[in-house]
Amino acid sequence: MGKTEQFSDEYQKLRDQLTQTGYICTGSITTVYRKCGKSYCFCAKDENAVHGPYNVWTRKVKGKTVTRNLTDAQAELCKVEFPRFDGHDFGMMV
Ligand SMILES: [Zn+2]
Repeated sequence: MGKTEQFSDEYQKLRDQLTQTGYICTGSITTVYRKCGKSYCFCAKDENAVHGPYNVWTRKVKGKTVTRNLTDAQAELCKVEFPRFDGHDFGMMV
């Protein structure tokens, strides 16, 4: 098997996984850190303490913005499928 065929075989497997998990990766994935808002949590006491990083998937569905948290594995799959997601930013330091 040539290199190209091998790659497309791997690619096909990943595509199948994506299909099985029901993820259609449109939109964008960002990595965010946040405060949970609980007054007793460490993040409320320390200004610099945050939870995260979280992988957040943002996409438009019928004109509405829908967000969903992804596990690291799910985010990785989307990045493999759509390399442009590697440009995720760390901008949302809340
Ligand atoms: Zn917290």
